[in-house]
Amino acid sequence: MPCQSIDEDTSKTTTIIWGVLMRFDRCLPALLAALLLTACAGPSSSPGGVTQGMISNPPEDEWLSYGRDSNEQRFSPLTLVNDANVGQLGLAWYADLDTARGQEATPLLHDRVLYVTTAWSMVKAYDAKTGALKWSYDPKVPRETLQRACCDAVNRGVALYGDRIFVGTLDGRLVALDKASGHEVWSKVVVPNQQDYTITGAPRIANGMVLIGSAGSEYKARGSLAAFDASTGAEKWRFYTVPGDPSKGFESDAMATAAKTWSGDWWTLGGGGTVWDSITYDPVTHLVLFGTGNPEPWNPAPSGRSGDNLYTASVVAVDADTGKYAWHFQETPEDRWDMDSDAQITLADLKIGGELRHVALHAPKNGFFYVLDAKTGQFISASAFAPQNWATSVDAKTGRATLNPDAQYDKKGTPFVGLPGAVGAHSWHAMSYSPKTGLVYIPANLAGFPYAAAKDWKSSAMGYQNAQDPSVVAMPADPTVRAKILGATVGALVAWDPVAQHEVWRVQYQGPWNGGTLATAGNLVFQGNAAGEIAAFTADKGGKLWSMPVQSGVIAAPMAYSLDGEQYVAVLAGWGGVWDVATGVLHDKSGGARNISRLLVFKLGGTATLPAPPPLDKLPLDPPPFRGKPAQVTQGATLYARYCFPCHGDAAVGGAVNPDLRRSAMINNASAFKAAVIDGVLSQNGMVSFQPVMTADDAESIRQYVVKRANEDKRLGEK
Ligand code: CA
Repeated sequence: MPCQSIDEDTSKTTTIIWGVLMRFDRCLPALLAALLLTACAGPSSSPGGVTQGMISNPPEDEWLSYGRDSNEQRFSPLTLVNDANVGQLGLAWYADLDTARGQEATPLLHDRVLYVTTAWSMVKAYDAKTGALKWSYDPKVPRETLQRACCDAVNRGVALYGDRIFVGTLDGRLVALDKASGHEVWSKVVVPNQQDYTITGAPRIANGMVLIGSAGSEYKARGSLAAFDASTGAEKWRFYTVPGDPSKGFESDAMATAAKTWSGDWWTLGGGGTVWDSITYDPVTHLVLFGTGNPEPWNPAPSGRSGDNLYTASVVAVDADTGKYAWHFQETPEDRWDMDSDAQITLADLKIGGELRHVALHAPKNGFFYVLDAKTGQFISASAFAPQNWATSVDAKTGRATLNPDAQYDKKGTPFVGLPGAVGAHSWHAMSYSPKTGLVYIPANLAGFPYAAAKDWKSSAMGYQNAQDPSVVAMPADPTVRAKILGATVGALVAWDPVAQHEVWRVQYQGPWNGGTLATAGNLVFQGNAAGEIAAFTADKGGKLWSMPVQSGVIAAPMAYSLDGEQYVAVLAGWGGVWDVATGVLHDKSGGARNISRLLVFKLGGTATLPAPPPLDKLPLDPPPFRGKPAQVTQGATLYARYCFPCHGDAAVGGAVNPDLRRSAMINNASAFKAAVIDGVLSQNGMVSFQPVMTADDAESIRQYVVKRANEDKRLGEK
């Protein structure tokens, strides 16, 4: 099914691609702000507890919330490691993780302890100096949940407040843990149901409340952001991002207003607009800013939707106390390309047009960099930071995009290769902003994606509900076409001037899906990459000063802290998330993108070494002879693309996380294959029964398709 790709030249229309898809201040004087925050700090906290004032204005040696401070700048003021000595950086310690899936979390550091989440929403606490494990918490997410998660069993981190740690779980719970012991204090389901929603994002804190949204816009979800009392877990407010069934009345004026921008029966499939990553509580304006995902299905035709579909693909602001609507800015009207606006929202005080403005900086999937007034949502400027072809222009006054008619594949009736694609020019991989250089450091993907409207599409009980035609969207088996796609799919670290709205420098990567970034006052930017290294660049000019191979692709963002006069840089390694899971064809574009999940901590003069990586235990490509019928292959390919692709890879080529079915012994035997697909014998591994949507004959068709694909690749010389 999905594919995705990239292209890096800056012209608008060039190369096509496919690739993978699918699927992801300084305004008020700081002192005054700090006093204000402390005064509003709410009910924390025994000695040692984390207060709102600390979160908003953290001590320089700590990292107390996902984006480090309330501005979500991911800027560390530490200078002990700097552009003069970073070459002496070495491994201080590391910790092997007990799961080999995508690792997306940013560790938090408080009171000499690092708090980390890993896949399956597990939480671990380490002594930040020695790496000794202090405690470990497993929410025991049912592995079957994986079938409802677009992009692996990932989690992006915890929130800290008072003496508690908060984590959202893949199966839709918000859990409070005792910071010292890791014991559960309270746990509650915070999504409307556990069938259609998952949580992968990090919670945030706003004055004694814990904020969390959910994912699910590729399924049947109605997006919302909700606030919970940190002490009790009681729900304080919930802001829905799309209107519900009009016959039941609307929860607010904002929903009534939004409903005027929809048509058809959108609510029957949920409507989408999920808040799966960015949440920024701004103590300066007392607003919570967040980004929303695509409307669903991607293809508007099946639900008869038209119009802007508010508040999808938007930045939205609500009152932090009440959740009441304040403003919105829609970045992608009439989205039909999965142009989620969920990427992190960073706040900064910038001099624009001679005036100091408190602004929100945003680089969403759609390829434009937006600057908005953080208090009013007023559009200030936008410019493309990556090639894009879905919009023909952006209005200089309003920021509204004019859609490219060719991009409206549902209306036009012909497939469209979009740039960027559904993976996005930039997604959840955190960007950072340095007030010293005035630059934003964006981990950018340059990839396209083919969209094709499915005909006579009906929703089903399992799998993606995006109403795309998988026969068009699947990665072709033809090696020449694949090579073209692979060549055009790349990544970059882009240093962007948000005032001038132009690129200042870039580091080019062979492949996409590189790690988030950390900026420091030592004139450094740190980033891990898909090729399996972590590197440091000068923040002002992008010169590469240091790198170290870490055996696994890195997708998470680094963070920094200091202890006893030494600065540390910590990052999770562990390649995964959508790119690997969805497309084995592209997963090793950068080379070396295997998954060896670890927490890595660096310091000047660090002398720890990693053990030799275990040998690759790749099974040989040794399929049985293909004896299926053409009709089976056609049917099998369609079913594979709709239901199997998200985990087992485009064109049946697996990545580094889930089994490559072409190499599985299961394809030798029809009854073994049926036992997995229909009888669910592997459900404990996350491979659920697809009986609700498939017959035994369907399973056999899929097996024949995979056998045929395996034989094709073997003939091409793959081993
Ligand atoms: Ca989406």
